[in-house]
Amino acid sequence: LRIAAMEPLDAFGAEKLFLLSFKDISELRRLDRMRSDFVANASHELRTPLASLRGFIETMQGPARSDDAAKERFLGIMLDQSTRMSRLVDDLLSLSRLELKSHIAPDQSVDLRPVIGHVRDALLPLAEELGVEIRLHLPEQKVEVLGDRDELVEVVENLIENACKYGQEGKFVDVFLRNEPSQPVEVSVVDRGPGIPAEHVPRLTERFYRVSVADSRSKKGTGLGLAIVKHILTRHRARLIVKSELGKGSEFTVRF
Ligand code: ADP
Repeated sequence: LRIAAMEPLDAFGAEKLFLLSFKDISELRRLDRMRSDFVANASHELRTPLASLRGFIETMQGPARSDDAAKERFLGIMLDQSTRMSRLVDDLLSLSRLELKSHIAPDQSVDLRPVIGHVRDALLPLAEELGVEIRLHLPEQKVEVLGDRDELVEVVENLIENACKYGQEGKFVDVFLRNEPSQPVEVSVVDRGPGIPAEHVPRLTERFYRVSVADSRSKKGTGLGLAIVKHILTRHRARLIVKSELGKGSEFTVRF
């Protein structure tokens, strides 16, 4: 609240005039807090693998100096930790690039069939490693939406990768592309994994949010994938709809 006293204006015949202006800054405060939480979380996530790398280097310089077997094992762990850090930095860069572009509307005409096909091919090695088969159910005709091809690749990639990682024991991941007359275009990724407890579903797209059921912690990830997905979909005026049933599996649908 700001109060400014003004000189009386003759026209009003008043002794003194006051100008009251109200501005709701709670939203600004909330954004500020989110930003500083984000920096704190990102620093913490980078610090953990860095501390571990440092610990291993010191051990290799000292107590394990002449233990070749131990050194070999430590090098494997160090490689994993540095991969984790690279993934995190890539995701952070993706988010900040998206923020910079937030005022530019994506406007290419993108056929979603080759997007999905390309992502499936790129994920084949991971799917094979996890013993999952990715099955595509695509229409014969082009399905075009207005968007940014690279960003849409990122969305589909995140959803299919998650379905493979977290739905691994279901063996199959199905991807449906629907384009029914007078219906919105939809991409659905369906897995038959353990599902997600209902109370976590609304929070999945928060930055760094990971469901802490025993299994999910052991899977590699940054907790930023679905935050990136949400960001991209907002720019595309599209929505993410999540349906999940414990013991049955999950369905992540993008509705354009
Ligand atoms: P990440 O996979 O890097 O942890 P995401 O933002 O992509 O981060 O996902 C957030 C969390 O949502 C995951 O850690 C996981 O717990 C949960 N999740 C996402 N997709 C699935 C899925 N298909 N089945 C079960 N849990 C999932």
